[in-house]
Amino acid sequence: MIVLMKVNPSPEHVQMMVDRIEKMGLKAHVIHGTERVVIAAVGDKRDGNKEALESYDEVDKVMPILAPYKIASVEIKPEPTVIKVRDLIIGGGNVGVIAGPCSVESEEQIMESARRVKVAGAKGLRGGAFKPRTSPYSFQGMKEEGLKLLAAARDETGLAVVTEVMTPHHVELVTAYADVLQIGARNMQNYHLLQAVGEVRKPVMLKRGASATMDEFLLAAEYILDQGNQEVILCERGVRTFETHTRFTLPLASVPYLKQRTHLPIVIDPSHGTGVASLVPPMCTAAVAAGADGLIIEVHPDPPNAASDGAQSLTPDAFDAVMEQCRKVANALDLTM
Ligand code: PEP
Ligand code: MN
Repeated sequence: MIVLMKVNPSPEHVQMMVDRIEKMGLKAHVIHGTERVVIAAVGDKRDGNKEALESYDEVDKVMPILAPYKIASVEIKPEPTVIKVRDLIIGGGNVGVIAGPCSVESEEQIMESARRVKVAGAKGLRGGAFKPRTSPYSFQGMKEEGLKLLAAARDETGLAVVTEVMTPHHVELVTAYADVLQIGARNMQNYHLLQAVGEVRKPVMLKRGASATMDEFLLAAEYILDQGNQEVILCERGVRTFETHTRFTLPLASVPYLKQRTHLPIVIDPSHGTGVASLVPPMCTAAVAAGADGLIIEVHPDPPNAASDGAQSLTPDAFDAVMEQCRKVANALDLTM
């Protein structure tokens, strides 16, 4: 349920309502909107407590939340959530660009990537240190050594580090180095991992599972939010279909669809979404035109020799051109980049 507080409630009144809601066996999430304070009262109980909650003086109205996801829903928070970490701003009229190689491979490779994407205007640096690979014989990532290289690249460039965490056991380690924790598509429904990153107080970028519906995607985000981490970024990275001309099928309609249902910002990953470097640039501009709050793009100094995802990685020169094109689209739409 949505408990809408009267205008300008005191912190004591908010706390009093939180206590009452929790006494009813529900969880209370306080959301400070620009105009009003609302408390999401969530739990598996039905709306039997509506009258009881409405009877309090501090409460304006109590409404049911119709969507299956609650804290992620626009019903509870109509104003968009904006994620800011270092110079990376995702949402609120700003298109945040995260770029870098699929995997961290060496000091030279990540430094060169970081320098080039920074000059081109990216504000985030991607790079996997723990890699979820389809084959156990493929390169699995440099692990902690890779995290250290990412931190060194951040020290030099100031870019915010976005990197994947694959298991709850590594959450503490990855959190020590990352600015944004990435949850990969394969782990979108790893509920223990979602809860573990929900306890962290750093932004999480949740990638859509390759066969997940939008409701499943938003319910996965809800697992993170429910643990108190309000900084969740959704990432559409394409879904598995009958089609084989691309690695996955990238539905850009996800952007407007999600914006109608959630306040969380949405980033598009055209690299995994297409799997083909030549298809990436037009999908970047299209994503900006569709209203995406950010892009995550694979860029490698030497794509043919990349340890992973070379075929979909842009060269730094190609990335320069993409940024230029995207900026034109952003400008036309009064967005900053
Ligand atoms: C990645 O970002 O390199 C990655 C493994 O992505 P996904 O989880 O979307 O497949
Ligand atoms: Mn990749």
